Amino acid sequence: MNDKNITIPLIPIRDMVILKGENVTLDIAKRKSLYALENALDEDKQLFFVLEKAKNDFNNIGTIVKIKKYDDIMPSVTRIVVEGVKVAKIQQITQKSPFFKADVYILEEENLLNDEEKIAYLDILKDSFSEYAKVKKNFMPDIIMDILSSDNLEELFTMLLNNIDLNVEEKLYILNKISFKEQLEYFLKALSKKIKISQIEAKILTRTRVNIDKTQKEYYLREQLKTIKKELDKDDNSDVDLYKNLLEKKSMPTYAKEKLEKEINRLDKIQTSSPEYTVCNDYINFAINLPWQQSSQVNSNILDIEQKLEEGHFGLEDVKERIVEHIAVMQTSENVNTPIICLLGPPGVGKTSIAKSIANALNIKYTRISLGGLRDEAEIRGHRKTYIGAMAGRIIKSINDTKTNNPLILLDEIDKISTDFRGDPSSALLEVLDKEQNKDFKDNYLEIPFDISKVFFICTANDISKIPAPLRDRLEIIQLSSYTTEEKEIIANNFLIPNQLKNHNLSKSNLKIGKSTVKKIITEYTRETGVRQLERNIAKLCRKAVKIRLEDNNKNVTISSANLKDFLGAPKYKKEVLNKKDMVGCVRGLAWTSVGGTTLDIEVAIMEGSGKISITGNVGKVMNESAQAAISYVRANYKKYNLVKNFYKTNDIHIHIPEGATPKDGPSAGITMTTAIISALTNKKVNKNVAMTGEITLRGNVLAIGGLKEKILAAKRIGIKKVIIPKDNEVDLEEMPQYVKEDIEIILASHIEDVLEHSIVK
Ligand code: ADP
Repeated sequence: MNDKNITIPLIPIRDMVILKGENVTLDIAKRKSLYALENALDEDKQLFFVLEKAKNDFNNIGTIVKIKKYDDIMPSVTRIVVEGVKVAKIQQITQKSPFFKADVYILEEENLLNDEEKIAYLDILKDSFSEYAKVKKNFMPDIIMDILSSDNLEELFTMLLNNIDLNVEEKLYILNKISFKEQLEYFLKALSKKIKISQIEAKILTRTRVNIDKTQKEYYLREQLKTIKKELDKDDNSDVDLYKNLLEKKSMPTYAKEKLEKEINRLDKIQTSSPEYTVCNDYINFAINLPWQQSSQVNSNILDIEQKLEEGHFGLEDVKERIVEHIAVMQTSENVNTPIICLLGPPGVGKTSIAKSIANALNIKYTRISLGGLRDEAEIRGHRKTYIGAMAGRIIKSINDTKTNNPLILLDEIDKISTDFRGDPSSALLEVLDKEQNKDFKDNYLEIPFDISKVFFICTANDISKIPAPLRDRLEIIQLSSYTTEEKEIIANNFLIPNQLKNHNLSKSNLKIGKSTVKKIITEYTRETGVRQLERNIAKLCRKAVKIRLEDNNKNVTISSANLKDFLGAPKYKKEVLNKKDMVGCVRGLAWTSVGGTTLDIEVAIMEGSGKISITGNVGKVMNESAQAAISYVRANYKKYNLVKNFYKTNDIHIHIPEGATPKDGPSAGITMTTAIISALTNKKVNKNVAMTGEITLRGNVLAIGGLKEKILAAKRIGIKKVIIPKDNEVDLEEMPQYVKEDIEIILASHIEDVLEHSIVK
């Protein structure tokens, strides 16, 4: 990079342009801008300001400023004094979060004036200024002196820019001009317009009486404004008229109407060129358009709601049932402080999408607020509008986006909010969610209470322990659990594939994805609790199919398990398979990991040695203890298994659980390890078609375990014929869907003897 190209933190500003040489004081309150400021202070104290013309639409030329002073005037507001030092053009925004950063190119002013021209402009500027100062009468004498005594054109121009109020458009025009001459010409034009207005003002003032009381004064001032506008032949009052009209028609609470009426009257009195006008105008524009009393007509037909929920998602019976109950309660007793639903579960299990479905079934609008990483209370409640860049909080903004006062707002990842010096967002959220208080929710920016009690709030979370306790008390937790391979297959075939085909404008015959292909994607290309990766892989297939069809005469594409790897690359995960033959010291265990049920071999080798015990394969503490318990049990019962009394003194025992990359822990491998040890010591084979899970005590009793459904399904997936599970888990078995229990023999064991009975080959 040469010295004309630099990368610099960028702050967009809405209603302000800073010119080169200008000194400006401003308050920074937006979080993004504060980050940019922090970064600039850490580095070379330079920032780049650009005008944000509309949301995310930046003027491409902006000003590099030097920070001369800064001061934290409030916990989340920093007041800075900056001086415009250079003008630069945005080449590229290189970063958007946590703050904007841009590559900019420094523009050099084109200063082609010769000496005579310079003197001429110097004179004209001074003349115009003194004329202005004469009518304006509010300049300090020493400033007038400084300006009139200057003999350097550039300096003079800078002084004038610092002392004469130009509006945003005027400044922007000057900023965007590279040619100094054009800047001067334009400035002179603007100045002469100001002189004309001031002269008219002065004329009116001399005509009006001096001693007038307050009401009369207002009247005259308004008359004055009208005269000015007439003289200038332009009617800037259109905003005010428009708002008055709107306000009359719009239905909203009386207190809101009154407050807005006041604001509109205030706007009428502010000069359109002043920054205050923009602030006031933006505020009225925002507040008046809020959906104060505009609601969606809520579907109250419970049967219809149930059916729509059913159509949108497979399974999730609990969730659907509880939601329908919740809706029924809400409808019958509107003002009760019903708990807020919180959908709790791992990623990708459909929390967001079922919330969307609920909104759809209820016929209300849906919007989502992501709370991940939220630290600033003002994000929820808004910034006071006295600060530059102030905005309403996210709650009011989302409601505004939906244009109704009864949308469904999904508060996503409520377990990821944090608290720091910027306040406690969770207490602000509590207020939002509390029906007693949210009838007149107060946003700092809006100032007028807004009734958010009709909003249907639903939260989501991954981890219940991370939800702040007071919030948790307000929530009705509905748990969504991970999906089995079979469930994933159904979701893929009935929901994900049809949806993705539709998104990619493909018909069923344009792209065929066979059932076995889907299964292969699930087992060999994804490892997840939900179906996100699965959905992504299906989307990838659709994209590739679209490409093939474009290149090859719209031909139909079929994806089978054989050609799948041409589309998705080599499988990412190894398929679990049944062992080929019965083996000594090798037993298939069943485990439950964060991505669902899986099977794993436990291998034991006995070697001549001195009683050393080693356990390898990325094993956790609890599993290690299970291994110790297994060995102690075998040692204590050596007679039962016809072992030599001191067998352990002359042998080393090595327990290994392959696939070291997957961390494993939990007590449920107890019986598997014991079986493997006994098999190795007695040199008897273990049936390859058996898999098992269960905790073991020192007495050889088998204790209950968790994740039974996932484990049985994992065993079935690889073709195991018989699973041995703890007798204590019999109750879980009763509640399990029939399809899980079909086609597999389930043995209930209360003691290790039962396990050996069914696993050791005789
Ligand atoms: P979460 O919010 O829990 O992380 P998402 O709602 O983003 O999960 O779900 C990811 C994708 O999986 C979505 O496209 C969703 O429609 C789909 N999905 C998840 N569960 C189901 C289900 N039970 N039936 C149909 N589609 C589902």
